[in-house]
Amino acid sequence: MRPLLVDGPRVIGMTAPEDVVEGGALFIEDGVITARDAAARTRFSSLAAAGTAVERVAAAGLWALPGFVQTHVHLCQTLLRNGPDDLELLPWLEQHVWPGEAAHDTITLEISARMGLAELLAGGTTSILDMGTVRHTDAVFRAALASGMRVTSGNALMDDPATNPPYLHAETAEGLAETERLRLAWHGHEGRLRVAFCPRFAVSCTRRALEEAGEAARRHGLLVHTHASENRGEIALVRERTGLANIHYLESVGLAGKNVVLAHVVHTEESERESLAAKGTHVAHCPSSNLKLASGICPVPDYLRRGISVSLGADGAPCNDRLDAFSELRLAALLPKMSFGPRGIPAWDALSLATVNGAKALGLDGVGTLATGMRADFTLLDPEAGFTRPHAHRGDPYGPIVYSFSRENVVATYVDGVERFHRDRLDAFPLRPSGAEIEDAALTLRNRTRALLRRNP
Ligand SMILES: [Zn+2]
Repeated sequence: MRPLLVDGPRVIGMTAPEDVVEGGALFIEDGVITARDAAARTRFSSLAAAGTAVERVAAAGLWALPGFVQTHVHLCQTLLRNGPDDLELLPWLEQHVWPGEAAHDTITLEISARMGLAELLAGGTTSILDMGTVRHTDAVFRAALASGMRVTSGNALMDDPATNPPYLHAETAEGLAETERLRLAWHGHEGRLRVAFCPRFAVSCTRRALEEAGEAARRHGLLVHTHASENRGEIALVRERTGLANIHYLESVGLAGKNVVLAHVVHTEESERESLAAKGTHVAHCPSSNLKLASGICPVPDYLRRGISVSLGADGAPCNDRLDAFSELRLAALLPKMSFGPRGIPAWDALSLATVNGAKALGLDGVGTLATGMRADFTLLDPEAGFTRPHAHRGDPYGPIVYSFSRENVVATYVDGVERFHRDRLDAFPLRPSGAEIEDAALTLRNRTRALLRRNP
């Protein structure tokens, strides 16, 4: 890979609010930012003068921003978008998502994952934490490999026969062995793919599965990715079965700490919040999903004040229905104003959730800012695209990005210094399935889902 100079953008480094350089530059060697701004141009000139082949991307007028890190996504659900829109979590899972996931084969799942990854890249996202379905998770990793994105995923563990539908279920040992098989096959691949243990949520799993997943994750240095305290019905079920508040139950089975990412965490008691802060357990905030499933509003400013780690995710396509970091950013900044006042989450803080905090939650040390020495994961934004051009009187870039920008501002997305999406080169974007492929896969899924529901009313 030739060294690359990204020349002239406004560099928004995200190391501190002041880290904004007009007419800056990034110099990238072997996927790493080795120099910035004036030093980047000097390095480019000296290498070019010495006869080294170097590339240059003219980026004057654009804004360079660290790629978004989304810490809760379901690529397996992209093809289930635009399902029933007006349901709460538990009926929505039972009537739409679980049969839809169970209907996948490797072909439909790979198409679903490619659709999701293409949409994420086109919206400036470079890293995700994904949750697979129970089977065929290799298809997700194949799509992830083709995308060039930084993807952590794993098969969903659903081993409790009392709570899972018979068609979406794997015995305890079978589910755990599948994660181990995926680990050996995919973990560390190209430095970008990683495997996580993904118990779906406390309700779906036996105590033994949760304990063994936590133990194996610690032994192998893997993340645990699960849902927690999204919905009051779910919390009541956990209390009925265990006698404990959900976060305390998860803690009691070893699912707490810096390698654990809990999606949602909307409804928590004081002692649960104290525990999240003390253990360093991460919260993935998914505001669109929480609104659409009428789950509630996560008290993010309170969590942040306590030192709880919070990052952002779009969740799955059927509860959003976009996999778009800009939508989540905007809601993450707007929603807290109702309960916490206008400075509940200022724009800089919201953008930190979507970049630096996400990288920390996933343990991606070299990702999340555009400092020298970091991986070159970034997106180039065109501030003049669309109809929301920022005015000169607005000094910092954070308000415009959080409140007015959208996916139409994304020009290109790079991971490890390689262009993975460019709005003017969609022909060279094979990740995106064709319309015919999507129609075929969607029809297959719909027919199989109906058959499953007929057999299991
Ligand atoms: Zn989810």
